[in-house]
Amino acid sequence: CGIVGYVGSQQAAPLLLEGLARLEHRGYDSAGVAVLGGTGLRVHKGAGRVHALTDSLPKRFAGRTGIGHTRWATHGPANDVNAHPHTDGKGLVAVVHNGIIDNAAALRAELSDDGIELASDTDTEVLAHLVARSSAETFEAKVAEALGRVEGTYGVAFLHVDFPEQMVVARNGSPLLVGVGEKETYVASDLAAIVRYTTTVAHLEDGEMALLTPAGFSTYRLESSGLAASPRTASRLD
Ligand code: GLU
Repeated sequence: CGIVGYVGSQQAAPLLLEGLARLEHRGYDSAGVAVLGGTGLRVHKGAGRVHALTDSLPKRFAGRTGIGHTRWATHGPANDVNAHPHTDGKGLVAVVHNGIIDNAAALRAELSDDGIELASDTDTEVLAHLVARSSAETFEAKVAEALGRVEGTYGVAFLHVDFPEQMVVARNGSPLLVGVGEKETYVASDLAAIVRYTTTVAHLEDGEMALLTPAGFSTYRLESSGLAASPRTASRLD
């Protein structure tokens, strides 16, 4: 339903929770955040309201890279386990997702056959496992390989513990925009989530992916042959 992400020099969690609160009017049944910091990947999520999530945030939840989500359940009931972010279960990868993965059942079966235990009932969780299992070298290539296996609609944002100052996002049928600030970069499914922090934005198109760092972003097109550079710049809204 709603996505917000941050990579920069501030603590991510307060910014993400504030952004999620600004998406509340869209409706949701669960919410969650994940941050990457010195102690690795941390996730805090559950069924219910964003302010309840904020009130119950663990004291030590530090990280300057993070993703947040409000969920409108399509696959699996609205409960704590099915709330996003989803992970690979080994602390490597976290993902938030808007949309529906049409071939999730087949991908879940394939992963189970390989001995992977799926924690949730969602279509989304397979994305975290596919990225974690990829042997591609760069973060963006890992995500491209995973998304190459997926049919359906998505706005997605990924964290990877091996790439602590990066976030990879992609869009296919579910809106996503990148916002550029001073030594910080944002992503959101709706401008409302980040408009307090920046109005210099680029809207991604279907089939596009972006690599975000504190210094800015690079965009690519997801093609069957791999990733093709598709340079874009952010422009200031009036
Ligand atoms: N299909 C995903 C789920 O059920 C994402 C739903 C959404 O867009 O919030 O978890």
